Amino acid sequence: MSYSTSKIELIKGDITKLAVDAIVNAANSSLLGGGGVDGAIHRAGGSEILEECRKIVARQGGCKTGEAVITTAGKLPSKFVIHTVGPVWNGGEKDEAEKLSNCYINSLQLAAMNGCKSVAFPNISTGVYGYPKFVAAQVAVQTVLKFLSKNDKIEKVIFVCFDEENYLFVQKELSGVKV
Ligand code: ADP
Repeated sequence: MSYSTSKIELIKGDITKLAVDAIVNAANSSLLGGGGVDGAIHRAGGSEILEECRKIVARQGGCKTGEAVITTAGKLPSKFVIHTVGPVWNGGEKDEAEKLSNCYINSLQLAAMNGCKSVAFPNISTGVYGYPKFVAAQVAVQTVLKFLSKNDKIEKVIFVCFDEENYLFVQKELSGVKV
């Protein structure tokens, strides 16, 4: 299943399989691994990713919500993994949208700074962090569109949806978009 304009692609599947410049991980602030997509990335990428995460933790003590750090992709087919920490959904009045938006902006900025042209995102915060999928899709798509309109270093953003619901919400948000 796929949808694409020239700069944005939507696919349903497993982000660990993608041979892009950077895949984004929905990490937690410890950077030391977890479940969901984080677990899948560390499992498939091997111990090198965790080793680099540990060095980052030693240097800066983890990663704050909305921020992002970059590591090797280990055994994965991508070149880098960008780890960002999404907000835990708390009813919507705790700056969740701004924090989620920052995840996309900071990940894309870090990708551009490291020479990446193609970046794949999972549906950050929509798993155990409980962000409503429909609203998360709006934030994700609108933030990425705004970023792409101002930055020409990133040539391709791929939304990788693991489940049908996220896929349909992102697809709806992208309908009619031309970039
Ligand atoms: P968070 O803690 O940010 O909610 P999760 O990993 O629990 O992170 O979920 C984020 C999203 O990642 C969910 O929509 C989940 O379905 C999706 N996901 C889980 N495994 C994968 C994978 N291998 N590839 C892409 N997306 C995945």
